[in-house]
This record gives sequence, structure tokens and C-alpha cells, in this order.
Amino acid sequence: MKKWINGIFHTMEKPGAVKHQMATDQGLIVGFDDDIDGIVFDEIIDLKGAHIYPGFVDAHLHLLGYGRMLSRPNLNKIKDKDQVIAILEKAYQDKPLFAEGYFECGLTKSDLNQISNKELIMVRHNDYHSLTVNDAVLNMMDYESEDGVLTEESAEQAMRLFPPHTFEDLKDFLKKSIQKLNAFGITGGHSDDLSYYNSFDETLSVFDEVLNVIPFRTHLLVHHHVLDDFLKSGRTYMDQTPYLQLGSIKMFYDGTVSSKTALMKAPYRNTDMHGLRIHEKLEFERMIQKVRAHHLTAAIHVIGDQGVLEVIEILKKYPPKQGQFDRLIHTPWMDQKTPDYLKGMALSIDIQPQFLSSDLPWAFDYFEKTPELVFPWKTLLDHNIILAGSSDAPIEIPNPLLGIRALVYRISDHDHKAYGLKEAIPIFDAIKLYTTSVQFSTMKSNRGYLKKGYIADLTGFEKDLEKLSEPEFETTKVLWTIIDEKVVFQKEK
Ligand SMILES: [Zn+2]
Repeated sequence: MKKWINGIFHTMEKPGAVKHQMATDQGLIVGFDDDIDGIVFDEIIDLKGAHIYPGFVDAHLHLLGYGRMLSRPNLNKIKDKDQVIAILEKAYQDKPLFAEGYFECGLTKSDLNQISNKELIMVRHNDYHSLTVNDAVLNMMDYESEDGVLTEESAEQAMRLFPPHTFEDLKDFLKKSIQKLNAFGITGGHSDDLSYYNSFDETLSVFDEVLNVIPFRTHLLVHHHVLDDFLKSGRTYMDQTPYLQLGSIKMFYDGTVSSKTALMKAPYRNTDMHGLRIHEKLEFERMIQKVRAHHLTAAIHVIGDQGVLEVIEILKKYPPKQGQFDRLIHTPWMDQKTPDYLKGMALSIDIQPQFLSSDLPWAFDYFEKTPELVFPWKTLLDHNIILAGSSDAPIEIPNPLLGIRALVYRISDHDHKAYGLKEAIPIFDAIKLYTTSVQFSTMKSNRGYLKKGYIADLTGFEKDLEKLSEPEFETTKVLWTIIDEKVVFQKEK
């Protein structure tokens, strides 16, 4: 039995509700304050005045992709070509090189050929949809490019040439990812990883092995490409171990705004294009029917306002079985009527608040007419729709405080202006998106609050989050990350 003293425990039952001492045993909360008087403890942990919350969870990210990004040279925020080249030269070790996060500053294939024109060199741009590559890559693809810049299809084709990761590489990515997430106070994540690396079985074994030794509440979506592998594996839906669940089937309804593939009601500016459906409507319906035939649920990537309308129509036609819930991922743009249509549906929405800060206002330039609803978080909550907070890391930094700041202040990182403040949500509700409502998709009834019988997953900050000023969201430190009663990250104040 452990006693946790000198903490301010925010139970998340209502704003400002706090306790001061807590007892835990076998990974569960036993009680607080007066209720735990007289108990004999084996261990007393001094939390040194930290503000303790239920463990923060990221509702949509890519654990392996994030770990891989952390393992590769990163050119993030470097805007000087000579500096980029210097970093690449230093990272090059006579084997294929892949660098991430390049910000356009005039790098071409001839710069990369200087480093090597024998080994493959690929530099991914920070929009995630283009690459700059050297001649070794172009020759192998039998592809001509003046400057070595490849986009979309050709970029993907090039990436398939990169040597596959070994089992040990993947384990290493996962460990790095979890370690960094713990430092952001994250105790769990809902991740889409199972179709992008090696085989389904091998990738899943990476999780089995790592989570056997490192606690992290991992919930994996099953990409529809590996649905048959999942069915063959004999694995069941949801709980595998206390640290691993297999959840909804991940599918894509449309694309993204920056590549003009998100399915919009109105055409993109100066075009007659509305974006696209990744699968024809009928084919998508068949995919949903297959999911239902196996009593499973769907996690659907959908970005455009028209895409959301169509997904709703299809899900209403084929609802999940009683007691099950689908999830929509992204949905930044919506038609005026959408929140009413969503009301009462068996689903939750995984939103990425940081996308507002990253994408506004430039995303407006893509549209002839601004969609009716833009990141309509307040409206959705007012319609009792369950929202869960996420980063989509490696796309955004998986620091939940940055997500909460975006929910509350709606400030663009580009012009520092606030956008659509009537859709801002109160700080307490914003914290809930990362602690309480994010647990909805796990179907666990003892996660997301600090209450007797709930899991002892905790995140401790140096300050009371409900009282932070806008700039403090960037500077407030995580002091403790605790999973299953075990301290996995600790920082001195
Ligand atoms: Zn994603």
C-alpha cells in the first residue's frame, strides 16, 4: 500500500474539486484524505506540491511513427540551406539516410548528391507529402526530376525503396516514443501503427514485447488493410493485457486540405474540384458492412465537411451493435447541420486542437468559401458529442498543454490572432478531453477520474492548470508521470 502526500489531487469530477492525500494499492486508487486515516503504508511518496490529474492520454497518434521521427535526423525549424546540408553530412554514415521535418529552403538533389549519390538519401518535407531525394533514389525508381523533389504518389513510391525496419528498430522506436510521451505527462495513447511496418503479427509482437517491460496504456487501431490478418490472428477485440487493447478498424474516407483531397461541399478556390473519396461510396459501405459482420467498430479519418456528412449517412445505415461505438478522426470542417445529425449517434470524435494553431489562417486560402463550421468544439460539446484530445504525433508535438491552449484560446501560431472564439471551450472541459472523455473509446469504467477504484495513472504539473495564463501553457512543467502506481517520469521543480 502506497501513500501519496503533499499533492493537490484534481479529481476531475467538477472544476476546482481537489483532495490532498491519496492511497493506492495494486495499481488502483484506494481512497483519499480522511478515508485513509489509520491505514499502515509500505511506502510514502512526497509529491512536493505538484498538481495531480488523472493520467493524460493522447486519443490519436502514431507511436512508432513518432519514435521513428525521434530517431532520425530532424531538420525541424531550420531555414538555412547550408545548415541543413551540414546536419545531413554529419548524419550520413555510408548507409541509406532519411531525414525528417525539412522546411523548404532551396535544397536540391545536387546538394544531396554531394553527400552521396550511391546510398539512398531522402529528406521528408514538413508537410509530410513531399520528399527531396538524391540520384541514387531517382535511378532506382527510374524517374526523372530536375530538382529531386517528389510529391504524393512519387514520394510514396520512393519511400517504399527505403530498407525496411528490423524488429529491433521498431522496438527502439516504441521505447523512444513512450519515453518522450512520459516526459509530456502522457500515460497512454490510441495509435495507428499496424499496417505501415513489417507484418501485422510482427508489429504487434513489438508492442507485446515492449509493453511487457514498460508500462504504457496502449490502444491500437487496426488498419483496414490488416483486418484479415487481425481476424486470422485469433486476437480478440479490446483487452489483450492491462497495457494493450486492440480497438476500432481504421479507415480513410477522404484526404487532406493541403493536398486538396479532403471532400468539401464547395469547390477548392479557383478550381471545380471538391476533393475526393479514398474509396467509392459503395465500396466504403461494403467495408463498414464487413466490420459490422465481425462485431467490430470503425475509426474513420474524415476531414472535409461533405465527407463528414457522407460518413454520418453511412454509419446511420449500418450502426454498431448495442453498447459499441465508432470514432471519427479529425473533422475540423463541418456543415451547419452536422452537429444535429451527430446528436445521439454511437460515436466519439478524436480531434487535434493543435491543428487549429497550425492550419489557420492559411487553410482558408484553399477554399472559395469558408466552411460553415470551423473547428466547432463548443457547438459539438453543447450537442453532447464526446470529444477526445489528440496530437496526431508526429504531425504535432504530443504535448497536451499545447492542445488545451488551442481549445481555450484558439490562437494561430502564424499570426497570433484568435479564430472563432465563440467555439472556445472552458479550461476544465479542455482538460477533460485529455483525461476523462479520452477514455470513452477504451470501454473502461475505471479510468479518467481520481476516484476510489480507479487506476493509479497520474500526471503531475508544477501549476494548477485551471489557473494558467495563455503563455504559461508553453512553459508549465510536468513533474510526475505515474502509470499503474509506478513513477515513469519525474522532474525536479
Ligand atoms: Zn493520424
